[in-house]
Amino acid sequence: MTELEKKQSRAPVPSGWDYAPAPEARDIVRIEERYGHFVGGEWLEPRETYTTIAPASEEPLAEVGQATPEEVRSAIQAARDAFQNGWSALPGSERAKYLFRIARILQERSREFAVLESLNGGKPIKESRDVDLPLAAAHFFYYAGWADKLEYAFPNRRPKPIGVAGQIIPWNFPLLMLAWKIAPALAAGNTVVLKPAETTPLTALLFCDVVRQAELPPGVVNIVTGDGRTGVEIVKGDVDKIAFTGSTEVGKAIQRELAGTGKRLTLELGGKAANIVFDDCALDQAVEGIVNGIYFNQGHVCCAGSRLFVQESIYEDVVKKLKRRMKTLRVGDPLDKNTDVGAINSRQQLEKIKELVAAGEQEGAEIYQPPCKLPEKGYWFVPTVFTNVAQSYRIAQEEIFGPVLSVLTFRTPDEAVEKANNTPYGLSAGIWTEKGSRILWMAERLRAGVIWANTFNRFDPASPFGGYKESGFGREGGRHGLEPYLEFE
Ligand code: NAP
Ligand code: MG
Repeated sequence: MTELEKKQSRAPVPSGWDYAPAPEARDIVRIEERYGHFVGGEWLEPRETYTTIAPASEEPLAEVGQATPEEVRSAIQAARDAFQNGWSALPGSERAKYLFRIARILQERSREFAVLESLNGGKPIKESRDVDLPLAAAHFFYYAGWADKLEYAFPNRRPKPIGVAGQIIPWNFPLLMLAWKIAPALAAGNTVVLKPAETTPLTALLFCDVVRQAELPPGVVNIVTGDGRTGVEIVKGDVDKIAFTGSTEVGKAIQRELAGTGKRLTLELGGKAANIVFDDCALDQAVEGIVNGIYFNQGHVCCAGSRLFVQESIYEDVVKKLKRRMKTLRVGDPLDKNTDVGAINSRQQLEKIKELVAAGEQEGAEIYQPPCKLPEKGYWFVPTVFTNVAQSYRIAQEEIFGPVLSVLTFRTPDEAVEKANNTPYGLSAGIWTEKGSRILWMAERLRAGVIWANTFNRFDPASPFGGYKESGFGREGGRHGLEPYLEFE
């Protein structure tokens, strides 16, 4: 609580403006002690299990299955049966009804999902509540709208579903990535086997309940949980397509495995986005955009604005304003409604962040971290900014996937483009300037799949998302997002 100070004869005034704790209640969500795999509309008792935890407290939450090769095979078989026994032949307008139902149920149960997402993944409740859940529901609504209009989406091309899609997703936006994968696949008439990330299986398992509530025919959606070994089995299995979101390293391994098999593949991989700030921009808005670009979701964002390029003439100003703003970020309990930065998703990810931050200091960059009290248990990292960064430093080259920003400078637009494109990745970029013509000039030259102007980290189901170069290929979202799930005569 805020301390009160009595100033002479006047009324007491608060000496600070600290926020009182405002925890979201946990009891809206019931977590089972143990979960199986969701196969053919039934829960399959798992042969092996592991414990999933809350990264903010290291508290065990539930036992979940570690799918064996046979369990993965039976999930793929269930998807194949569902595809052949009616789902793919259903009129698009009927498939749309199921998708609309799922979207509505997600909206109705959004608080429950948001609490579970924050518990299991560590992200602040205000983000899961205001970003992940609304966007996940919007994705189902959006693709429900396309399900009976595929002929119009691809005129004269006679679109047809491809069959069973194997879908492997990461831990940074567990339910949202599930929505990105499942909604277009089902709209196009496919069936799916999806594996959530090892550390964040719980919202995908709760989603099985939604699938049942929506009375989706059994086997259209199958969920198997487990670590990378389960992912390998899906990739090797009898599927017609793999949709993968995760690290570039695993993406490359999957591409090698699938070469020559005829299975279709889309890859959404890492990024090292440039957020470029020109001296004519609205500075305070840009600072908000910089903060949102890198500290949103603890920086566990593939399109995070992790490389900040500031025009030299405003460098001092930007860094000063940025540091001041960082001091006001509230780090802590993900379930507290005032929290801005939650827990790091796993011990493994925390180690990776620490390693790269140590490399940044060693290579000679200057580190700044605002004063910040971290909880004793759980995985935490203070929002960090590095100045004096050279392009060759690891912190300017490698994806950190944490709340760590590297600041670099430029003088001319040409130099900004050259530096921004100097990366193996090409997922996203941001431009801050008052000049419309400069936005267009820059956007034409930046090699990135998504480019934001005077904003950052904005998503809409109607807008395609995806990368160039080592950020992968294929697009999710929009009409483009249907194409990987269709074949054409
Ligand atoms: P990851 O290891 O590539 O994991 C992604 C998913 O693939 C997880 O479900 C993972 O299971 C599974 N997996 C692991 N090894 C596999 C294999 N050999 N074959 C098939 N599946 C396999 O990524 P991560 O290290 O957990 O996540 C962080 C990285 O993901 C970041 O560095 C970032 O670059 C990338 N990412 C990209 C995007 C994007 O949209 N482009 C989004 C989020 C994350 P486990 O959970 O058991 O590892
Ligand atoms: Mg992994």
